[in-house]
Amino acid sequence: MRQDPFGNQNTGGRTRRGGGLFGNVRWLILLGFAIYGGCYYFGNRSVDPYTGEKVLIDSALDANEEKALGLQAYQEILSQERPLDPNAQISRQVREIASRLIAKVDVVETALAQEHGMQPQHFSRDFDWEVNVIQSDQANAFCLPGGKMAVYTGLIPVAQNADAVAVVMGHEIAHALLRHGAQRMAQQKLTQIGQMAGAAGGLDAQQQQMMMSAMGYGYLLPYARSHETQADEVGLMLAAAACFNPEEAVPLWQRMSQASGGEAPPEFSSTHPNPGTRIQNLQALMPKAMEYRQKFCTQGAASL
Ligand SMILES: [Zn+2]
Repeated sequence: MRQDPFGNQNTGGRTRRGGGLFGNVRWLILLGFAIYGGCYYFGNRSVDPYTGEKVLIDSALDANEEKALGLQAYQEILSQERPLDPNAQISRQVREIASRLIAKVDVVETALAQEHGMQPQHFSRDFDWEVNVIQSDQANAFCLPGGKMAVYTGLIPVAQNADAVAVVMGHEIAHALLRHGAQRMAQQKLTQIGQMAGAAGGLDAQQQQMMMSAMGYGYLLPYARSHETQADEVGLMLAAAACFNPEEAVPLWQRMSQASGGEAPPEFSSTHPNPGTRIQNLQALMPKAMEYRQKFCTQGAASL
Protein backbone atom coordinates (compact mmCIF):
# COMPACT_ATOMS: atom_id res chain seq x y z
CA MET A 1 0.00 0.00 0.00
CA ARG A 2 1.24 3.44 -0.98
CA GLN A 3 1.80 6.12 1.65
CA ASP A 4 0.15 9.41 0.76
CA PRO A 5 2.17 12.66 1.02
CA PHE A 6 0.13 13.92 4.00
CA GLY A 7 0.93 10.85 5.96
CA ASN A 8 -2.59 9.40 5.86
CA GLN A 9 -3.29 5.86 4.88
CA ASN A 10 -4.64 5.78 1.35
CA THR A 11 -7.84 3.78 1.56
CA GLY A 12 -8.47 2.90 -2.05
CA GLY A 13 -8.36 6.49 -3.29
CA ARG A 14 -11.44 7.59 -1.33
CA THR A 15 -9.59 10.28 0.59
CA ARG A 16 -8.48 11.98 -2.61
CA ARG A 17 -11.80 11.97 -4.38
CA GLY A 18 -14.30 12.61 -1.63
CA GLY A 19 -14.78 16.04 0.01
CA GLY A 20 -11.72 17.95 1.13
CA LEU A 21 -11.02 21.58 0.37
CA PHE A 22 -9.58 20.86 -3.08
CA GLY A 23 -12.57 18.71 -4.02
CA ASN A 24 -15.04 21.45 -3.06
CA VAL A 25 -13.17 24.14 -4.96
CA ARG A 26 -13.07 21.93 -8.00
CA TRP A 27 -16.83 21.38 -7.88
CA LEU A 28 -17.41 25.10 -7.41
CA ILE A 29 -15.29 25.82 -10.47
CA LEU A 30 -17.21 23.25 -12.49
CA LEU A 31 -20.51 24.64 -11.23
CA GLY A 32 -19.38 28.16 -12.19
CA PHE A 33 -18.57 27.02 -15.71
CA ALA A 34 -21.86 25.14 -15.94
CA ILE A 35 -23.75 28.30 -14.98
CA TYR A 36 -21.70 30.36 -17.44
CA GLY A 37 -22.31 27.80 -20.20
CA GLY A 38 -26.01 27.64 -19.33
CA CYS A 39 -26.40 31.42 -19.39
CA TYR A 40 -24.59 31.59 -22.70
CA TYR A 41 -26.79 28.85 -24.10
CA PHE A 42 -30.14 30.17 -22.90
CA GLY A 43 -29.24 33.83 -23.41
CA ASN A 44 -28.51 33.31 -27.10
CA ARG A 45 -31.34 31.02 -28.15
CA SER A 46 -33.69 32.22 -30.85
CA VAL A 47 -36.13 30.63 -33.29
CA ASP A 48 -35.23 30.49 -36.96
CA PRO A 49 -38.15 31.49 -39.22
CA TYR A 50 -36.98 29.20 -42.06
CA THR A 51 -37.12 26.03 -40.00
CA GLY A 52 -39.19 27.00 -36.94
CA GLU A 53 -36.41 25.42 -34.85
CA LYS A 54 -34.55 26.82 -31.86
CA VAL A 55 -31.03 27.88 -32.76
CA LEU A 56 -28.01 29.17 -30.90
CA ILE A 57 -26.50 32.37 -32.31
CA ASP A 58 -24.34 34.74 -30.28
CA SER A 59 -26.43 37.92 -30.00
CA ALA A 60 -23.17 39.87 -29.65
CA LEU A 61 -22.28 38.90 -33.25
CA ASP A 62 -24.04 41.41 -35.46
CA ALA A 63 -24.88 40.96 -39.11
CA ASN A 64 -22.15 43.33 -40.32
CA GLU A 65 -19.47 41.56 -38.36
CA GLU A 66 -20.60 38.24 -39.77
CA LYS A 67 -20.60 39.67 -43.29
CA ALA A 68 -17.10 41.09 -42.79
CA LEU A 69 -15.83 37.66 -41.67
CA GLY A 70 -17.39 36.08 -44.77
CA LEU A 71 -15.83 38.69 -47.06
CA GLN A 72 -12.39 38.24 -45.51
CA ALA A 73 -12.54 34.47 -45.95
CA TYR A 74 -13.77 34.91 -49.53
CA GLN A 75 -10.90 37.20 -50.49
CA GLU A 76 -8.41 34.77 -48.99
CA ILE A 77 -9.88 31.84 -50.91
CA LEU A 78 -10.00 33.75 -54.22
CA SER A 79 -6.38 34.87 -53.82
CA GLN A 80 -5.27 31.25 -53.34
CA GLU A 81 -7.44 29.66 -56.03
CA ARG A 82 -7.85 30.25 -59.74
CA PRO A 83 -11.14 32.06 -60.41
CA LEU A 84 -12.36 31.94 -64.01
CA ASP A 85 -12.83 35.05 -66.10
CA PRO A 86 -16.27 36.46 -65.14
CA ASN A 87 -17.08 36.64 -68.86
CA ALA A 88 -16.36 32.97 -69.52
CA GLN A 89 -19.45 31.02 -70.55
CA ILE A 90 -19.54 28.88 -67.37
CA SER A 91 -19.20 32.01 -65.20
CA ARG A 92 -22.14 33.63 -66.97
CA GLN A 93 -24.31 30.52 -66.65
CA VAL A 94 -23.49 30.09 -62.95
CA ARG A 95 -24.19 33.78 -62.34
CA GLU A 96 -27.57 33.46 -64.01
CA ILE A 97 -28.51 30.44 -61.88
CA ALA A 98 -27.42 32.38 -58.78
CA SER A 99 -29.49 35.45 -59.67
CA ARG A 100 -32.60 33.35 -60.26
CA LEU A 101 -32.19 31.70 -56.85
CA ILE A 102 -31.43 34.98 -55.05
CA ALA A 103 -34.51 36.61 -56.61
CA LYS A 104 -36.67 34.02 -54.78
CA VAL A 105 -35.06 34.25 -51.33
CA ASP A 106 -37.63 36.72 -49.95
CA VAL A 107 -40.75 34.86 -51.10
CA VAL A 108 -39.42 31.48 -49.97
CA GLU A 109 -38.42 32.88 -46.57
CA THR A 110 -41.87 34.45 -46.15
CA ALA A 111 -43.65 31.22 -47.14
CA LEU A 112 -41.53 29.05 -44.82
CA ALA A 113 -41.89 31.52 -41.92
CA GLN A 114 -45.68 31.48 -42.38
CA GLU A 115 -45.66 27.69 -42.20
CA HIS A 116 -44.05 28.06 -38.76
CA GLY A 117 -46.40 30.85 -37.71
CA MET A 118 -43.56 33.39 -37.78
CA GLN A 119 -42.62 36.63 -39.45
CA PRO A 120 -39.69 36.59 -41.90
CA GLN A 121 -36.57 38.47 -40.74
CA HIS A 122 -35.19 39.20 -44.22
CA PHE A 123 -31.73 39.08 -42.72
CA SER A 124 -30.28 38.45 -46.19
CA ARG A 125 -31.46 41.77 -47.64
CA ASP A 126 -28.14 43.22 -46.46
CA PHE A 127 -26.08 40.56 -48.23
CA ASP A 128 -23.66 41.62 -50.96
CA TRP A 129 -24.22 38.65 -53.24
CA GLU A 130 -21.37 37.61 -55.51
CA VAL A 131 -20.46 34.41 -57.29
CA ASN A 132 -17.19 33.25 -58.82
CA VAL A 133 -16.30 30.02 -60.59
CA ILE A 134 -13.07 28.41 -59.40
CA GLN A 135 -10.97 26.18 -61.64
CA SER A 136 -10.64 22.94 -59.67
CA ASP A 137 -11.31 19.21 -59.93
CA GLN A 138 -13.39 19.26 -56.75
CA ALA A 139 -17.14 18.74 -57.11
CA ASN A 140 -17.85 21.46 -54.62
CA ALA A 141 -19.43 24.86 -53.99
CA PHE A 142 -19.92 27.20 -51.05
CA CYS A 143 -21.75 30.33 -49.93
CA LEU A 144 -20.22 32.30 -47.06
CA PRO A 145 -22.04 34.53 -44.55
CA GLY A 146 -22.95 37.73 -46.37
CA GLY A 147 -23.61 35.99 -49.70
CA LYS A 148 -20.17 35.42 -51.24
CA MET A 149 -20.35 32.26 -53.32
CA ALA A 150 -18.13 30.02 -55.40
CA VAL A 151 -18.74 27.03 -57.65
CA TYR A 152 -15.82 24.73 -58.49
CA THR A 153 -15.57 23.63 -62.12
CA GLY A 154 -15.39 20.00 -60.91
CA LEU A 155 -19.06 20.26 -59.96
CA ILE A 156 -20.22 20.84 -63.55
CA PRO A 157 -19.63 17.30 -64.96
CA VAL A 158 -21.22 15.71 -61.84
CA ALA A 159 -24.22 18.06 -61.91
CA GLN A 160 -24.68 17.57 -65.69
CA ASN A 161 -27.44 20.19 -65.97
CA ALA A 162 -28.52 23.63 -64.73
CA ASP A 163 -31.25 22.17 -62.50
CA ALA A 164 -28.72 20.13 -60.53
CA VAL A 165 -26.29 23.07 -60.29
CA ALA A 166 -29.23 25.10 -58.93
CA VAL A 167 -29.94 22.41 -56.31
CA VAL A 168 -26.32 22.54 -55.08
CA MET A 169 -26.22 26.35 -55.10
CA GLY A 170 -29.61 26.51 -53.38
CA HIS A 171 -28.21 24.23 -50.66
CA GLU A 172 -25.16 26.48 -50.23
CA ILE A 173 -27.22 29.69 -50.20
CA ALA A 174 -29.46 28.08 -47.57
CA HIS A 175 -26.44 27.58 -45.26
CA ALA A 176 -25.85 31.36 -45.39
CA LEU A 177 -29.55 32.23 -44.98
CA LEU A 178 -29.86 29.92 -41.98
CA ARG A 179 -26.71 31.48 -40.46
CA HIS A 180 -25.11 28.11 -39.96
CA GLY A 181 -21.67 29.72 -39.77
CA ALA A 182 -22.76 31.90 -36.85
CA GLN A 183 -24.35 28.86 -35.20
CA ARG A 184 -21.09 26.93 -35.53
CA MET A 185 -19.23 29.84 -33.93
CA ALA A 186 -21.63 29.76 -30.97
CA GLN A 187 -21.15 26.00 -30.68
CA GLN A 188 -17.39 26.47 -30.68
CA LYS A 189 -17.71 29.00 -27.89
CA LEU A 190 -19.73 26.50 -25.84
CA THR A 191 -17.09 23.86 -26.57
CA GLN A 192 -14.38 26.26 -25.36
CA ILE A 193 -16.32 26.84 -22.15
CA GLY A 194 -16.42 23.05 -21.76
CA GLN A 195 -12.66 22.80 -22.37
CA MET A 196 -11.90 25.54 -19.85
CA ALA A 197 -14.12 23.81 -17.34
CA GLY A 198 -12.33 20.52 -18.00
CA ALA A 199 -8.90 22.13 -17.52
CA ALA A 200 -9.92 24.12 -14.44
CA GLY A 201 -11.71 21.14 -12.97
CA GLY A 202 -8.51 19.11 -13.13
CA LEU A 203 -9.23 16.70 -15.99
CA ASP A 204 -5.97 15.46 -17.47
CA ALA A 205 -5.18 15.73 -21.18
CA GLN A 206 -6.48 12.25 -21.94
CA GLN A 207 -9.76 12.80 -20.11
CA GLN A 208 -10.22 16.11 -21.91
CA GLN A 209 -9.55 14.42 -25.22
CA MET A 210 -12.17 11.79 -24.39
CA MET A 211 -14.70 14.44 -23.41
CA MET A 212 -14.09 16.34 -26.66
CA SER A 213 -14.48 13.30 -28.88
CA ALA A 214 -17.63 12.26 -27.02
CA MET A 215 -19.03 15.73 -27.66
CA GLY A 216 -17.97 15.50 -31.30
CA TYR A 217 -19.71 12.20 -31.93
CA GLY A 218 -22.66 12.67 -29.65
CA TYR A 219 -23.41 16.30 -30.19
CA LEU A 220 -21.46 18.35 -32.75
CA LEU A 221 -21.54 15.90 -35.64
CA PRO A 222 -25.31 15.19 -35.51
CA TYR A 223 -25.78 18.93 -35.16
CA ALA A 224 -23.78 19.49 -38.37
CA ARG A 225 -25.88 16.79 -40.04
CA SER A 226 -29.10 18.56 -39.09
CA HIS A 227 -27.67 21.68 -40.75
CA GLU A 228 -27.22 19.67 -43.92
CA THR A 229 -30.79 18.41 -43.81
CA GLN A 230 -32.10 21.95 -43.26
CA ALA A 231 -29.96 23.31 -46.12
CA ASP A 232 -31.29 20.55 -48.38
CA GLU A 233 -34.88 21.53 -47.64
CA VAL A 234 -34.55 25.32 -47.93
CA GLY A 235 -32.27 24.94 -50.98
CA LEU A 236 -34.75 22.66 -52.73
CA MET A 237 -37.58 25.17 -52.17
CA LEU A 238 -35.39 27.95 -53.56
CA ALA A 239 -34.52 25.94 -56.67
CA ALA A 240 -38.19 25.02 -57.22
CA ALA A 241 -39.38 28.62 -56.72
CA ALA A 242 -36.75 29.76 -59.24
CA CYS A 243 -38.31 27.43 -61.85
CA PHE A 244 -35.64 24.73 -61.71
CA ASN A 245 -36.69 21.09 -61.63
CA PRO A 246 -36.36 19.92 -57.99
CA GLU A 247 -36.60 16.27 -59.08
CA GLU A 248 -33.02 16.58 -60.38
CA ALA A 249 -31.92 16.64 -56.72
CA VAL A 250 -32.25 12.86 -56.33
CA PRO A 251 -30.07 11.71 -59.27
CA LEU A 252 -27.68 14.58 -58.44
CA TRP A 253 -26.95 13.34 -54.90
CA GLN A 254 -26.66 9.79 -56.23
CA ARG A 255 -23.99 10.98 -58.67
CA MET A 256 -22.32 13.06 -55.95
CA SER A 257 -21.93 10.07 -53.65
CA GLN A 258 -20.58 7.95 -56.52
CA ALA A 259 -18.18 10.69 -57.63
CA SER A 260 -16.85 11.30 -54.14
CA GLY A 261 -16.31 7.54 -53.59
CA GLY A 262 -14.83 7.79 -50.10
CA GLU A 263 -12.72 10.85 -50.89
CA ALA A 264 -15.37 13.52 -50.40
CA PRO A 265 -14.53 17.20 -50.77
CA PRO A 266 -14.75 19.31 -47.58
CA GLU A 267 -18.34 20.57 -47.80
CA PHE A 268 -19.67 17.18 -48.79
CA SER A 269 -17.73 15.07 -46.33
CA SER A 270 -18.59 13.31 -43.10
CA THR A 271 -20.97 15.98 -41.88
CA HIS A 272 -23.29 15.15 -44.72
CA PRO A 273 -26.06 12.68 -44.07
CA ASN A 274 -25.79 9.14 -45.28
CA PRO A 275 -26.66 9.25 -49.02
CA GLY A 276 -29.63 6.87 -48.62
CA THR A 277 -31.18 8.95 -45.84
CA ARG A 278 -30.59 12.15 -47.76
CA ILE A 279 -32.32 10.80 -50.85
CA GLN A 280 -35.29 9.58 -48.78
CA ASN A 281 -35.58 13.03 -47.19
CA LEU A 282 -35.46 14.70 -50.58
CA GLN A 283 -38.10 12.38 -52.00
CA ALA A 284 -40.36 13.16 -49.05
CA LEU A 285 -39.89 16.89 -49.76
CA MET A 286 -40.77 16.58 -53.45
CA PRO A 287 -44.55 17.29 -53.20
CA LYS A 288 -43.81 20.47 -51.22
CA ALA A 289 -41.10 21.49 -53.72
CA MET A 290 -43.56 20.99 -56.59
CA GLU A 291 -46.06 23.16 -54.76
CA TYR A 292 -43.44 25.91 -54.38
CA ARG A 293 -42.63 25.62 -58.05
CA GLN A 294 -46.25 26.03 -58.99
CA LYS A 295 -46.77 28.96 -56.63
CA PHE A 296 -43.60 30.96 -57.18
CA CYS A 297 -42.18 30.03 -60.57
CA THR A 298 -43.55 32.80 -62.73
CA GLN A 299 -43.10 33.10 -66.46
CA GLY A 300 -40.11 35.15 -67.51
CA ALA A 301 -38.14 34.63 -64.29
CA ALA A 302 -35.70 32.49 -66.23
CA SER A 303 -34.41 35.38 -68.32
CA LEU A 304 -32.50 37.28 -65.63
ZN1 LIG B 1 -23.94 21.59 -46.83
